[in-house]
Amino acid sequence: MTARAREYAATVARREQVSPHLVRLVLADLEGPDPFVSTGIPDEWVGLVVPGQFQLRYYTVRSWDGSELVIDVVVHEEGLVTEWAWSSGRDCTGERVTLSEPKGSFAMPESATWMMLVGDLTAMPAMARILRETDVPTRVWAEVPDDLTGYLPEGADVTWLAPPGEGQSAVASVVESVDWPEGDGYFWMAGESSQMRAIRKHLMRERRLPSTAYDVMGYWRGGATRQPRAVDPGPIWREGQAAGRSDEEIWAAYDAAREGATP
Ligand SMILES: Cc1cc2nc3c(=O)[nH]c(=O)nc-3n(C[C@H](O)[C@H](O)[C@H](O)COP(=O)(O)OP(=O)(O)OC[C@H]3O[C@@H](n4cnc5c(N)ncnc54)[C@H](O)[C@@H]3O)c2cc1C
Repeated sequence: MTARAREYAATVARREQVSPHLVRLVLADLEGPDPFVSTGIPDEWVGLVVPGQFQLRYYTVRSWDGSELVIDVVVHEEGLVTEWAWSSGRDCTGERVTLSEPKGSFAMPESATWMMLVGDLTAMPAMARILRETDVPTRVWAEVPDDLTGYLPEGADVTWLAPPGEGQSAVASVVESVDWPEGDGYFWMAGESSQMRAIRKHLMRERRLPSTAYDVMGYWRGGATRQPRAVDPGPIWREGQAAGRSDEEIWAAYDAAREGATP
């Protein structure tokens, strides 16, 4: 029997516009069955339920200092959280939300001498935190619609890419053409699901990387006429790990669960 996942209530203490497509929410007064504790995994996420809703959406913990938890929310055309966080004429400051307990996926092998991070705007909070909390030489490819100078730690080796259109992504083709460093390393990537599926295939079939050398996560699904199901990655993650599945098998199962299919 699995224990019921812990939940925390929190208040939106502040809301700040980071860039035209990115809004920062500072959550405070966290209350739960026990104190909120970070996993310490730099790409950790929480599930967020906004007032009047019951469906979760997942957001990276940009930072947690023991009293304030920061998430950066991408503002896109329509969606449950995006509209709640940033609709004209309403302000979510002061509202009470629910958070699920944090989980993380990043697992750089100790032998890694370099790292590559690739992602779109939804991956920026995780990439910023990974850069802050790790110290191997790292190259970053960031596909973002806004000028985010200063968002990543100073000195980050970043290639900025423009998305092909509003709410679209094409990072997969970039990864397929990059030069890879020699030796053992770690590749982390997150963003639009179909781009991530293409890259998983590329890493497995063309580059033949061992599954411990990369993490590729579908964070959202673009071009959908039907919304993806909100599926908690937590149980899929735990079940996959207990069954000895690799990270990418687990994330592929997560993508399939959101689309209502079997992997
Ligand atoms: C582990 C994890 C960590 C994540 N971390 C972050 C994070 O830190 N910040 C963040 O903003 N997102 C993050 N995401 C992605 C976020 O959960 C999704 O983008 C989510 O769908 C947004 O919810 P919504 O209610 O705004 O839109 P939904 O109601 O879920 O979707 C409505 C429609 O909007 C489209 N859509 C959804 N997201 C986007 C997008 N980003 N750009 C363009 N169109 C979109 C979809 O096609 C969908 O049909 C993360 C996801 C995961 C799994």
